[in-house]
Amino acid sequence: MTAWHATVLTLFPEMFPGPLGASLAGRGLREGLWRLDALDIRAFGIGRHRSVDDTPFGGGAGMVLRPDVVDAACGAALAEAPDRPLVALTPRGEPLTQSTVRDLAAGPGAVLLCGRYEGVDQRVVEARGMREISVGDYVLSGGEAAAIVLLDACVRLLPGVMGAAESAVEESFAAGDLLEYPHYTRPAEWNGLRVPEALLSGHHAEIGRWRRAEAERATRERRPDLWARHAGDPPPTAAEEGRAPAPLAARPDAA
Ligand code: SAM
Repeated sequence: MTAWHATVLTLFPEMFPGPLGASLAGRGLREGLWRLDALDIRAFGIGRHRSVDDTPFGGGAGMVLRPDVVDAACGAALAEAPDRPLVALTPRGEPLTQSTVRDLAAGPGAVLLCGRYEGVDQRVVEARGMREISVGDYVLSGGEAAAIVLLDACVRLLPGVMGAAESAVEESFAAGDLLEYPHYTRPAEWNGLRVPEALLSGHHAEIGRWRRAEAERATRERRPDLWARHAGDPPPTAAEEGRAPAPLAARPDAA
C-alpha cells in the first residue's frame, strides 16, 4: 500500500518538514509511514524572473499569487498522485475540525496550497475545486504554518504513527464535540494541592464517570459552541464509561 502522501505548494520549501521532522511525525516520515514533498511555486513562475504574483485588480495593497502559476504547480503535484484532495489554506476557509482531520487522514493524502502576501487568485481555487480551510480566526503571514498544523493533526492519526501510549481514543473531540478531561500525575499531593479523589480510587466506573463529568463541564464552561452541538452526540464509549478498554490489536491507534 502506498503511504499517505502530502505535497505542499509553497514559496518557502525550506520551511518543511520543519517541526514535522521531529517526534512522532518525524519518526513516521523516516519510517515511510507517510510522505512529504515541498514543491516550490517559484519553479512554475513566469519569465526570466520566475514571477509568481501581481497587483490586485480593483486596487489595494499587496500582491496576489497568479492563477496560471498556481495551476501549473497543482498540475505537477497531482501528476504523481491525482486522487488527492487539493486544500487551500486561507482565513476565508471552513474552520479546521477534528472531523475534517479524520476525513483527510483516511484518504490517500492531500495537496496543500500555501498562500503568501494578499492571497491567491480565486479563479484557480474554484477551477481546481480546492477545499478552503482556515486554522483559526486570525491572520498568519503565510499558509506554511497552517499547513504544518493540518499535517500534524492528520499524520498522528495514520496507522503506526502513534503508539498505544499516545492513544487518540480518549482525547479532546474523540467522542464527538467534547473537550478532554484534565490530567494529573505523581505526586498525589503537590504544594498542598491534591489530585481529585475519584482518580485515586482505582474504581474504573467511578473514574469513567468523573472524567465524563469533567469533560462535559470543561466543554460547557469553555466552549458553549461545542456544548450546543454536543446534544446530538453518539453514546459514550467503553473507555468513557470506565469499562475495560478494547484489546490493543482492535484499537485504531494500534501499531
Ligand atoms: N488577505 C488575506 C485575508 O485577509 O484573508 C490574508 C492573507 S495572509 C497575510 C497570507 C496567507 O497566509 C494566506 O493566503 C493563507 O494561505 C495564509 N493564512 C493566513 N491566515 C490563515 C489562517 N487563519 N488559516 C489558514 N491559512 C492562513
